[in-house]
Amino acid sequence: MSRILSLTGLRKLPVLGLSLMMILLLFVFSTIAGADTIKIGLRAHHGIEQSMLQWEKTADYLSEQIPEHKFIMIPLVGLTELMEEAGQNQFDFILTNPSSYIEMEFRFGASAILTLRNKRLGKPYSQFGAVIFTRKDNNEINNIHDLQGKKIVAVSKPAFGGWRVAVREMLSEGFDIYEEAGQVSFSGGIQQDVVSIVRLGIADAGVVRTDMLERMAAAGTIKLSDFKIINQKKTKGFPFYHSTQLYPEWPFVKMRDTSSVLSKKVALALLTMPMDHPAAIAGKYVGWTVPEDYRSVHKLMQDLKVGPYQHYSEDPVEHFFEQYLIHFIVAVCILISLVYLTLYIFAINRRLVTAKNKQDKLMVSLEKRVTERTQDLLVAKEHAEEANRAKTDFLSTMSHELRTPLNAVLGFAQLLEHEAEERQLPQMQENTNEILYAGRHLLELINDILDLAKIEAGQYSFDFKPVPIKEVVSEVIRLLEIFANESKITISCEYEEDEQFEIYADLRSVKQILINIISNAIKYNHPGGVIDIRIKKQKNGYCKFTVTDNGDGIEKKLLDSIFDPFQRVTSRRDVSGSGVGLAITKNLVEVMDGEIQVKSTFGKGSTFTVLFKLAD
Ligand code: ADP
Repeated sequence: MSRILSLTGLRKLPVLGLSLMMILLLFVFSTIAGADTIKIGLRAHHGIEQSMLQWEKTADYLSEQIPEHKFIMIPLVGLTELMEEAGQNQFDFILTNPSSYIEMEFRFGASAILTLRNKRLGKPYSQFGAVIFTRKDNNEINNIHDLQGKKIVAVSKPAFGGWRVAVREMLSEGFDIYEEAGQVSFSGGIQQDVVSIVRLGIADAGVVRTDMLERMAAAGTIKLSDFKIINQKKTKGFPFYHSTQLYPEWPFVKMRDTSSVLSKKVALALLTMPMDHPAAIAGKYVGWTVPEDYRSVHKLMQDLKVGPYQHYSEDPVEHFFEQYLIHFIVAVCILISLVYLTLYIFAINRRLVTAKNKQDKLMVSLEKRVTERTQDLLVAKEHAEEANRAKTDFLSTMSHELRTPLNAVLGFAQLLEHEAEERQLPQMQENTNEILYAGRHLLELINDILDLAKIEAGQYSFDFKPVPIKEVVSEVIRLLEIFANESKITISCEYEEDEQFEIYADLRSVKQILINIISNAIKYNHPGGVIDIRIKKQKNGYCKFTVTDNGDGIEKKLLDSIFDPFQRVTSRRDVSGSGVGLAITKNLVEVMDGEIQVKSTFGKGSTFTVLFKLAD
């Protein structure tokens, strides 16, 4: 591959000075530019001074024609700088070569509003191309392929007429200058320098835009006869040396943000500029025409893969992959993810539908079962209610039927007891006592069963009213103290003396509850035992009544069953009872919206707690 050199190094100082001058100029122009100042960026391929001489008058002409604005030219030698400034919105219009215009069109939305009609030899030309040339005395170079291994010079790599046009022409001749030339270098300055470099023999051949040689010859800088044109072409109506096909002249470009009203005014002013106007004479042009077709420039840039066509390929598929490979990969990834997601959602959906169908079926069968069960339960409830009614009827009938003969038995037993007493028959006295004891126990049992049945059947009548609990407790203790004393058991009662409160309950039931619990604490105790009773008003609207004894206690596993009817969990045979008392107690407590709890340690004692609702 050939070496591509820049001669900038050789000419560092002047170019540095030039750059500084350009920046200074830009700064000065920007400073003096007011709101009504219109800036025209200019590709100064002849150098700043020369270009200003050429174009300043055109700006002045525009200022005259459109007096509300001051038009100024901002010349920049380098195409790269021009592009950068354009990118920073430094210009309203730009006058530049076709390929740099195409790039600006792509990058910044610029558009051509006119094409220059260049004046050469007194005639207008709207086309131009490139000239490939060598020194006349160079016998080694006669056609493009002779450039192989030679030193070639041009003004800059992005120059259009000064380079790209020639590169493309050489390519179409099957000669890749970058690959095959010995060295390609760029002077980096102005086109005239390229001619000088070739003339001095520093490079073997050079490339400049058309009419450059003729101009220099006209200015007396060179003699045309000193040079030889390579690949010379003839185009009708185009009298200048050219080695390439021709392309449309420089466009006058409007930037994207420039108003269309102003653009129209500018276009109109330039189109109507007289041929002999000082601006046209200074600018070396005859005027302007509507924009030429710049498609050939596009094609050139595509072929060279430069500017916006950097990644261009004629093969649309290859072009696509070159340009959009990353986008393509990302799109494919997104697509795969979407497909996966869709399939996943689809699968989930299917699972959901199956699950829902299953659930629906289950619901239907469940509803059916619930209906059936409800029906069964209703029937069972009816049966239970019927059975309950029958039980209550049976119990009340039976208790009546039992109590009448039982009372008779007890009456006669008492008569027998009197008689045994009078006749002093101790054996008979003992026997009648047994009959009386058993009879009374039976009567008690029948009464309890009847009470329980009545409560459960809702036939027990309650009279709810405020009940002074402390007084009732004292009364019950007084009643039961006789039995406690007989068994040598001490009862103590503790409550806040000054605190007066009442519970909302049925007095008869409350007494029954207290009697059942306290009498149990006496019954299931031993001589010397202690019973501790406490009454305490609570903040949650209840009164807490606690009876603690240090008697037999109850085994933990049996605790739950003591509230069931006929459940006696004691092993003591000396204590009489029917196992119904606590069942009645629990029922009564619950009817009164209360609660009963028990804690017990077998062999150590028990604590029964009842919560009664406080009266307001
Ligand atoms: P009972 O007429 O047998 O006393 P209850 O319904 O009053 O019937 O009591 C059920 C059973 O609970 C009793 O037989 C007894 O085994 C047990 N029980 C009740 N209170 C106590 C207590 N304070 N200490 C020990 N066991 C008790």
